Amino acid sequence: MSRLVVISNRVADPRKTAAGGLAVALAEVLSNTGGLWFGWSGKIVPEGANEALHTQQAGPVKLATVDLTQADHDAYYLGYSNGVLWPVFHYRLDLADFDAGYIAGYRRVNQQFARKLLPLLRPDDILWVHDYHLIPLAAELRALGCKQRIGFFLHIPLPPPLMLAAIPGHDWLVRALFAYDLVGFQSKADLGHFAGYVETEAHAQPVEPGRWRAFGRTVQAGAFPIGIDVDEFQALTRAPEGAEMYQRMKNEYSRRKLLVGVDRLDYSKGLPHRMRAFRELLAKNPETRNSATLIQIASPSREDVSAYNDILHELESLCGSINGNFGELDWMPVRYMHRTVARARLPGLYRASRVALVTPLRDGMNLVAKEFIAAQDEADPGVLVLSRFAGAAEQMREAMLVNPYDTEGTAAGIMMALQMPLEERRNRHQALLQTLRRYDVHWWCDGFLQALDSAQAEEAGTSWL
Ligand code: ADP
Repeated sequence: MSRLVVISNRVADPRKTAAGGLAVALAEVLSNTGGLWFGWSGKIVPEGANEALHTQQAGPVKLATVDLTQADHDAYYLGYSNGVLWPVFHYRLDLADFDAGYIAGYRRVNQQFARKLLPLLRPDDILWVHDYHLIPLAAELRALGCKQRIGFFLHIPLPPPLMLAAIPGHDWLVRALFAYDLVGFQSKADLGHFAGYVETEAHAQPVEPGRWRAFGRTVQAGAFPIGIDVDEFQALTRAPEGAEMYQRMKNEYSRRKLLVGVDRLDYSKGLPHRMRAFRELLAKNPETRNSATLIQIASPSREDVSAYNDILHELESLCGSINGNFGELDWMPVRYMHRTVARARLPGLYRASRVALVTPLRDGMNLVAKEFIAAQDEADPGVLVLSRFAGAAEQMREAMLVNPYDTEGTAAGIMMALQMPLEERRNRHQALLQTLRRYDVHWWCDGFLQALDSAQAEEAGTSWL
């Protein structure tokens, strides 16, 4: 079996149990092949001190990391990755900051990664590059002579062709994707956007289903919706911390129905829209007052990008006004916390909740939706209210699907979820859990790697950059 080399912006130590499902799944395949995981160390060092390569053996897996200078971090990570690609790929052109310096930094860091990774590679390695930070990595590696098979998976959505075309240098970005042997997306919608873009903007020819020719090379692309490790998450639910959290929440909310939202505080998650829908629910359905409580946990994220501060203030002001207008001496409608909850406690919280609100305006997949279903009590399960704009909605058809832009419609969906009879809750949950089990994170990992393994190899006789 070939050695697997995973490259991602951040590297997780697979021996640390706090790592989520993705890190666990990647660690498993990396361990099986005695693999290598390469990425940024998370450290910022002075100019000129960024040449070191840090290596560490983590069980059978080798970790190799590099540092970034402040200028590289600002341009590559904050600037281009999170100030251009993240907003545009989540359909927020209005939030993108197309500073010309950012793309130079993005390219510089990808070149650095390629230069430092190349000497670590063996001829029969298989490389798997993750996410929007590293789109041009294969092109940079090919330019240095790398012939190994390379796959790429985009964890976030790909926007429709015309929106993608708003990015200065978009053709460079898409051309870079053709340096991979396989490109994976989260959903069929994203794959459709890729096909639409390459056929209209790059005049690519589909050579066979799932395969396009452009820039003198063919690339294979497919939808590989990511899943969770259902068994691992259910084990967490039964573990002492999960069970204790569940009991605590059940006792605290014995007379009230609990609604839960768990997100990174990101503008793509539709948190203000969610709060407006909850306010509408309370306003239109007086019986929900005093009988429903929403716990919203929003973990701090990318606080050095200004759009994230705006969303924080908007959310806090909405929570305050809902509590101010509807709260009673012995009941507050919203319990809002701006923090991260320990992973071991999440399943208990999910299981004690009657309804989960997962209502992003756009999301590559959304794993909270899947975790919530995995954590439920099969005999008395809660209901998932899910935005149709989450990648997860393509698979999770039995959820209560809503349009988060439609405040009244979302409020009505939440009301239906709160009132849903036990039998319907069970039927929907059973179907959702079955899909979750069939398409779990191992299915995703194995499916992508098998497709990469059989992707038609081609000589890289092209000038890439
Ligand atoms: P994203 O990758 O955009 O943050 P996902 O829903 O795909 O969104 O994945 C989020 C992961 O982070 C999930 O595993 C979820 O449990 C975890 N998470 C999100 N918000 C919190 C929070 N406030 N506290 C603890 N864990 C969180």
